[in-house]
Amino acid sequence: MKPPDEAPTPLSPTTRYRLITYRLNPQIMSVRLRFAPSPTGYLHVGGLRTALFAWLYARRHGGQFIFRLEDTDQNRLVSGAEANLIRTLVWAGIDHDEGPDKGGGHGPYRQSERLELYQQHARQLVEQGDAYPCFCTPERLAQLRAEQQAKGETPCYDGHCRKLVASAASERVATGEAHVIRMKVLETPETLVLDDLVRGRVAIETTQTEDQVIIKSDGFPTYHLAVVVDDHHMAISHCVRGEEWLPSFPKHLLLYRYLGWKPPQFAHLPLILNPDRTKLSKRQGDVAVEDFRDQGYLPEALVNFIALLGWSPAHDRELFSLSELVEQFDFERVNRAGAVFDRDKLNWMNQQFLQSLAPDDCFERLRPFVAQTPYAGADEDLLRKITLAVQNRLVTLQDIGTRLPLFLEENPELQNPEVIGLLQQENSRTVLETLLRHAESSTDLNGETLPQIAKVVQQETGLKGRQLWLPLRGAITHELQGPDLHLVVGIFGKEKCLRLIRQALAC
Ligand code: GLU
Repeated sequence: MKPPDEAPTPLSPTTRYRLITYRLNPQIMSVRLRFAPSPTGYLHVGGLRTALFAWLYARRHGGQFIFRLEDTDQNRLVSGAEANLIRTLVWAGIDHDEGPDKGGGHGPYRQSERLELYQQHARQLVEQGDAYPCFCTPERLAQLRAEQQAKGETPCYDGHCRKLVASAASERVATGEAHVIRMKVLETPETLVLDDLVRGRVAIETTQTEDQVIIKSDGFPTYHLAVVVDDHHMAISHCVRGEEWLPSFPKHLLLYRYLGWKPPQFAHLPLILNPDRTKLSKRQGDVAVEDFRDQGYLPEALVNFIALLGWSPAHDRELFSLSELVEQFDFERVNRAGAVFDRDKLNWMNQQFLQSLAPDDCFERLRPFVAQTPYAGADEDLLRKITLAVQNRLVTLQDIGTRLPLFLEENPELQNPEVIGLLQQENSRTVLETLLRHAESSTDLNGETLPQIAKVVQQETGLKGRQLWLPLRGAITHELQGPDLHLVVGIFGKEKCLRLIRQALAC
């Protein structure tokens, strides 16, 4: 123990700075990240990645993860979207500490319930001279746009209402004239610099930015004002979002400056691409997380796959549990280049995770998929045995639907042309005929007696290895690389096996 009168250890300049900062604003020290989707009806895989990276960072640093609904676009509201987004995130293992469904100290968490706050800050900006009401009609804006395009210029607001005398403008506002509020972009051009956690130093000239609308004519804020106000008031330490928002950062940095607030750190995530390197789109395949869930992808596999879309772990490894991802994730290892969504790799991962499930767990996860098949009412013990036999062969949970007919139909149809081709070969017929003869006279045919009978067939025909086992496998499982033959024979029993062998001989 230190003697009480000992002089305190001198602080290094950085430690002192941190302590002072902490005293000034305790929230600066806490890690708080948010996921802020718009209620569009489904969770896009890009959204899942944004949520995942933010969540991983928050969990890794003992911080908080906040769900905020960005529902200020009244034309794009989809009923039930909020509950669906939350349900889908929870399915993926991403839980939040604060949100519209559970509250928290920084609510409300729906932007439509925070309108007064945005309007208050917009008024402040107008009073400060950093924003102004704009009365330009949609017709004038359309004409301006057309003129600029005709001249080959990028369409951009020309600052028409910026020149209005403030008192005259507020009178027009007071009389109820339709208007929006626009923020002023600096009159003296300036280069704004962002130290992005993924992209490094990014610089954009303010001349590339127009006087952005921050409050629409319906009184709702645009994304630009709402995101800044909310990230500040919700004490967000890191703003993680898609690369498509990168060009907006100058507007946001200016708003932080006008409002006198410290911006959070930013991490702009790379695009997710189709295999042809175009932006991931619905046209080329699934993009909704709900679709992957409904097709029988495991949350563990989808999350693992999504984590590797842009993030590369320190070691050459591909399979991670969620808690391993929490231990390893960092923005430093997120690439700037777009990440290709490779469905084959997702399938491979799903198969790996499926194979590693305990049989009971696998069965529970298959249950809703079995329920969608005509075999929903099959005996549960039998279904459990089937699960055990086919687990290693499933790519998705939905694949169970294509596996059940072999087990549950009296006379499953043999359709696989490769199998039919093999069964029609002379050697195959010899094996099957010999086996049939011995099996018919044996008391039973199951996983244990099969090798004994096969041995007799081998001695009698001189055929062994693949020449012996492939026809058996083909006849009984209708596949050449099917599930464990002994398990299948055990489930079928003697009568069904004999029926299948006779059917194979007739093909
Ligand atoms: N609502 C925006 C979106 O869905 C959020 C962007 C952000 O995270 O700031 O893309």
